[in-house]
Amino acid sequence: MSSMDSKVSAIYDSIVKRNPGEVEFHQAVREVLDQLDVVLERHPEYLDQKVIERIAEPERMITFRVPWMDDKNQIQVNRGFRVQYSSVLGPYKGGLRFHPTVYSGIIKFLGFEQIFKNALTGQGIGGGKGGSDFDPKGKSDNEVMRFCQSFMTELYRHINDFTDVPAGDIGVGAREIGYMFGQYKRIVNRYEAGVLTGKGLAYGGSLVRTEATGYGLVYFTDEVLRKNLGTSFEGKKCIVSGSGNVAIYAIEKIQELGGKVIACSDSNGYIHDETGINLDTLKRIKEVERKRLTSYVEEHKSAKYIAGGNIWEIPCDVALPSATQNEINLESAEILIKNGCKVVTEGANMPTTPDAVHAFIEANVIYAPGKASNAGGVATSALEMQQNASRDRWTFDYADQKLKSIMLNIHDQCYNTAAEYNVIGNYLKGANIAGFCIVADTMIPMGLI
Ligand code: GLU
Repeated sequence: MSSMDSKVSAIYDSIVKRNPGEVEFHQAVREVLDQLDVVLERHPEYLDQKVIERIAEPERMITFRVPWMDDKNQIQVNRGFRVQYSSVLGPYKGGLRFHPTVYSGIIKFLGFEQIFKNALTGQGIGGGKGGSDFDPKGKSDNEVMRFCQSFMTELYRHINDFTDVPAGDIGVGAREIGYMFGQYKRIVNRYEAGVLTGKGLAYGGSLVRTEATGYGLVYFTDEVLRKNLGTSFEGKKCIVSGSGNVAIYAIEKIQELGGKVIACSDSNGYIHDETGINLDTLKRIKEVERKRLTSYVEEHKSAKYIAGGNIWEIPCDVALPSATQNEINLESAEILIKNGCKVVTEGANMPTTPDAVHAFIEANVIYAPGKASNAGGVATSALEMQQNASRDRWTFDYADQKLKSIMLNIHDQCYNTAAEYNVIGNYLKGANIAGFCIVADTMIPMGLI
C-alpha cells in the first residue's frame, strides 16, 4: 500500500471486503487508487462526494445460466456475465470474454478498467464487460453457434444501442459476434446494427476494427519512443506475446514501421525466430486454420518452438505483452530489465503484475498501462457505432487516420497529466489520473448517481 494515504487505504480495504476472493478485481482497483493521493489533495470534493466508492460499485451486475446442447446431444451449462459498470460518459461499452477462467472477479476487473480506458478515448462511452466460462477451444462451429445463441437469448434484454453495446475480447471474434447479432436481430425483430461492435463488414462492421487494438498499440508505442527516447521502431527488436487478434495486428504494424518482431506465443508455448516472424504464415495458422503455433515451426526452419517456456527471457528493446492478465511477473520483469528492454506497452488488459510494474518504473523502463495503450480497439468500436448511427461507411484510410489521432490524443493526455503532477514519463500515473478525473468531473454534476 506504498503510496496510498490512510483515507484511500480505508476505501480500498472496504472494497476488498465487500468483493471477497475477486483478486484480479482488487488488483485493478488498487492500480487506480495507488495513483490518487496527489489528486485528492487537489480535489477534496472527490472524497466528500464519495466518488471512489461510487465508481467502484457497478451500476448493475447480471449473472445468468447458459444451457446449450453439444454435438453428442449432451446438455452443457455455462455461466454468463455482464457488468454494466458506469454509464456516466455514455452507454456501457466493453467486450465479451469466453474463456474457462472467467468468473465475477475477471469480469469486474475488466469492466472497472474499461471505465477509465473508455474515458481516455474521449468518445462518450461508459464502461462494461461480460462473458462466460465457456471454452471455445476444441468446440465445433455448430457448438459455438448454439452457445452464442443461448447466451444472447438472455443477454438481449439487457442491451441496445443506447444502453449497452458489447463487442469481442478473448475467445470472441467476428464469428461469435455474427452468431450473437443474428440471434439478437431475430429476437427483437429490429435491425439495430449499433447493438454490438466488431461485426462483419457486410452487416454494419467497420473497416479497421479487426486491426484496431494492435495498430493502436503500435501508434501509441511509436509516440512513446519518439517523445521519450527520440527514436522509432526502425531496427528495434520486439516481443509481442500472444497470437490472437491484438498480437497479429501489432506485429503487422511494427513490421510496417521497420521493427523486427522475434517472438510471439500461445497458451502452450512460444516461437522464437531471430529473422522475424512471418506474418502470412502466422495469420493463416491462427485466423484460417485455427491451429496452434507448433504448426509454424514445421514451415519455418529458422524458428524454434519452446513448449511452456518464458518468452520474456529473449532479449528485446520493446516488449508488448498482448496475451492475457498477469503474464509478466516480477521475475520476468527483472530479466527484461537485465536484458536492456527500454519500453513495455500493454496490448492485453493488466498483463503486468503490480510488483513487475514497480520494477519497470524503478529501473526507468518506460511502462504504459493497457487502459491507455490498448484503447484503440474500443475507440474503433465507437467509430463503428458512429457509422451505424449515421448509416455511413468509411474507407479504411479514413477510419485508420481517426484511430491514429485518437491514440496520439490518449498519449498526450497521459503524458501531459504526468507532467502536471511532476512525474514526467510516468504513463501509469498519467493514464490513471487522467481517466479517473474525466469520470469524476462528469459524475459530480449529475447528482447522487
Ligand atoms: N475487449 C476490448 C477491450 O478490452 C474491446 C472492447 C470493445 O470494443 O467494446 O477494450
